Amino acid sequence: MSDTYRHHFKDALDTLRSKNRYRIFMDIERVAENYPYATWRFAGEERDVIIWCSNDYLGMSRHPQVISVINDVTEKMGVGAGGTRNISGTHHPIVELEKILSTLHQKESALVFTSGYIANEAAISTIAKLLPDCVIFSDALNHASMIDGIRQSNCKKHIFKHNDVDDLEKLLASYDKSRSKLIVFESVYSMDGDIAPIADICDLANKYNAMTYVDEVHAVGMYGTRGGGICERDGLLQNIDIIQGTLSKAFGVHGGYIAANSDICDAVRSYAAGFIFTTSMPPGLAAAAKKSIEIVMQSNSLRIEQEQQVKNTFLALAAKKLPVVKTPSHIIPLMVNDAQLCRDISLRLLEKYNIYIQSINYPTVPEGTERLRITPSPRHDDVLIDKLAHACDEIWDYYRLPRVTHHHAA
Ligand code: PLP
Repeated sequence: MSDTYRHHFKDALDTLRSKNRYRIFMDIERVAENYPYATWRFAGEERDVIIWCSNDYLGMSRHPQVISVINDVTEKMGVGAGGTRNISGTHHPIVELEKILSTLHQKESALVFTSGYIANEAAISTIAKLLPDCVIFSDALNHASMIDGIRQSNCKKHIFKHNDVDDLEKLLASYDKSRSKLIVFESVYSMDGDIAPIADICDLANKYNAMTYVDEVHAVGMYGTRGGGICERDGLLQNIDIIQGTLSKAFGVHGGYIAANSDICDAVRSYAAGFIFTTSMPPGLAAAAKKSIEIVMQSNSLRIEQEQQVKNTFLALAAKKLPVVKTPSHIIPLMVNDAQLCRDISLRLLEKYNIYIQSINYPTVPEGTERLRITPSPRHDDVLIDKLAHACDEIWDYYRLPRVTHHHAA
């Protein structure tokens, strides 16, 4: 390889650095027995820190029963699945996992993918391609994986204003009722923590003869009396055609899925390259995911504890007049609105206070809306919350940042 080739990569990285977009990954070793504590390693040093930005929302990744199942099944069946779903990779735990996922979402069928990202990319592109002359209607803040699926479908697409049903209706109404349409959106938006008007979107889908596809990645396990997501909470499971979710966040394991009627799942199973041409999820992971779902379905207690700690965290930060956004979900954005400053604050929290909250910069959020995204779990107790509020308070003083009065914080 000549140096010229290498320079192209260096130039690309320099571009990112010059725009404050170069990402530095933190070397974190979580302590399963002492969640949310972790060891942070940096420049030959080790430090105990508290993680405040994990998507392991309920701490299920360290649940003793989930760990015990992955160990038992791995010992019994081996580590890797050994093949694609078609060629020896449809092991019994993945069959059972798909069964419980269809039960969770009250759908005829479910399909497991290697990640939530692949589930979106493969399912959206395949479903849209199979519909004749399909038009896709996509929320402006949809996740990159959904955008990838839409792009790969090569279908005509419209982007409607975020959570704006009037804008969506205008776009839907401009097409003949008989034209195939797919509305693609999320339930809980992960960076702003707001929730889609799902019932209204479903009404529009009925009125204009559209199919609906909702990404419940940040809601499964978290909402509804069995953790079936916002669609379960709002009694809308039957109104949505395709529900997509992840096993990697509230369920604390790994992998993604869709749940839908059996014809849709069978068609995606049969046509989606991202499902067909890859080795299937390892049996231990599938069994662990099923166990986690069972636990989360059976009891509301983790959800209730988590909701309480989210409330306590918000109130503690609001009491210090910090610019936290009150959201209808478990996600608390603490707005900084500057890329370099957001990174500096994140680093200061880590170095001075042993608190790890990753700064969220472009392209994950629009430029000028950089933030710290705080996700309290049931294990972030009131002592940890006080420490977080105190640290942020001092940092806001240190950088002389503006404060906000929260009139209706409670
Ligand atoms: N959809 C949304 C809205 C996400 O935020 C993410 C991941 O962060 C995904 C899909 C991808 O899920 P996974 O992490 O399981 O690949």
